[in-house]
Amino acid sequence: MDREQALFRIKKLFAGLPRVDLGFFPTPLYKLQNISTHFGVDIYMKRDDLTGPGLFGGNKIRKLEFLLGEAKSLGAEYIITYGATQSNHAMQTVTACRKLGLKPLLYLISIVTPDTVNYRGNLLINKIMDAEVHIITPPTGNMEGALGLARDAAKQRIKELEAEGCLCYEIPVGGANTIGTLGFASAYLELAEQMLQDSNINIDYIYHATGTGGTLAGLLAGKKLLGDEVKIIPVDVGLATPGYEKEVSKLAQEALSIMGSKEELSDSEVKVEKAYAGPGYEEPFPASNDALKLLAREEGILVGPVYTAKALAALFGHVQEGRIKRGSKVLFWHTGGIAELFAESEMVGMLYD
Ligand SMILES: *Cc1c(COP(=O)(O)O)cnc(C)c1O
Repeated sequence: MDREQALFRIKKLFAGLPRVDLGFFPTPLYKLQNISTHFGVDIYMKRDDLTGPGLFGGNKIRKLEFLLGEAKSLGAEYIITYGATQSNHAMQTVTACRKLGLKPLLYLISIVTPDTVNYRGNLLINKIMDAEVHIITPPTGNMEGALGLARDAAKQRIKELEAEGCLCYEIPVGGANTIGTLGFASAYLELAEQMLQDSNINIDYIYHATGTGGTLAGLLAGKKLLGDEVKIIPVDVGLATPGYEKEVSKLAQEALSIMGSKEELSDSEVKVEKAYAGPGYEEPFPASNDALKLLAREEGILVGPVYTAKALAALFGHVQEGRIKRGSKVLFWHTGGIAELFAESEMVGMLYD
């Protein structure tokens, strides 16, 4: 009963914040029967691959409900965002913009050289939805330098649009700012409510793929608001540079203060699993491919090679090493990324043997 009251009280913290409806919530939460039998541990899944509004949903829709809520409240017409050429975030931004009557502009960095003759994966979806797409080739293969070039190009375009009287709203890579982080603080509360409704589900561990860190920051903020003990295991996909933990905890702290909470979060509460990133971002490796195939063959559920397959490999690896205590309940938060399966082959790897 106490918990019900706490949830009710915390949900009210979101009430005054601008927000738009984009997805189908709550997303399904259930036990993966075959995988649980396979490993001898109860493994659950939170299906944020099914956030909607299109077939290729994902975690960014939750952030976009708040980000585009703010954009709408400011009267923006154009939405500018950044990512890799196969960015799930960019594609979900385009999808959300189309639903809301906003105009999407993308600045995408080619880490893996995109096929621009036969558009693939998320880039194909962006084309079908007629987003304005600018592709930036990194000069030295360095992501930060390329992002600088992308921002400069965008700045020029924004200047032009604003001279025509159009209001532009910029969203950072992955939607990872304070406003976007609210999406996953709210998602944590959604999970808490689902667990309350089904007393059999008492999750001890949450595994998820971490990239720009907004998902993790939001989950940590939500956990803090409820004072929960659950262990959150974020799995790096090749983007966690030095200082990552500090940035994530700062983001979580800012989200808490926007909600009017006085809770404090320390950097040491952010612990990232970095052993399952493989050779690098957008590069598959045997453990991630094996995890992807095992889930597909046991449960008929797909994950994407760039993010979710690596997080799943960490979960399976930890179970096999005995790092998950017997009798525990483990949640895999499926953050989406299915369109990555139809991207350039370097990103997908060998999945058919
Ligand atoms: C962006 C993304 C993530 C990581 O989320 P962040 O908030 O950027 O850390 C995980 N999985 C998928 C499929 C994503 O597209």
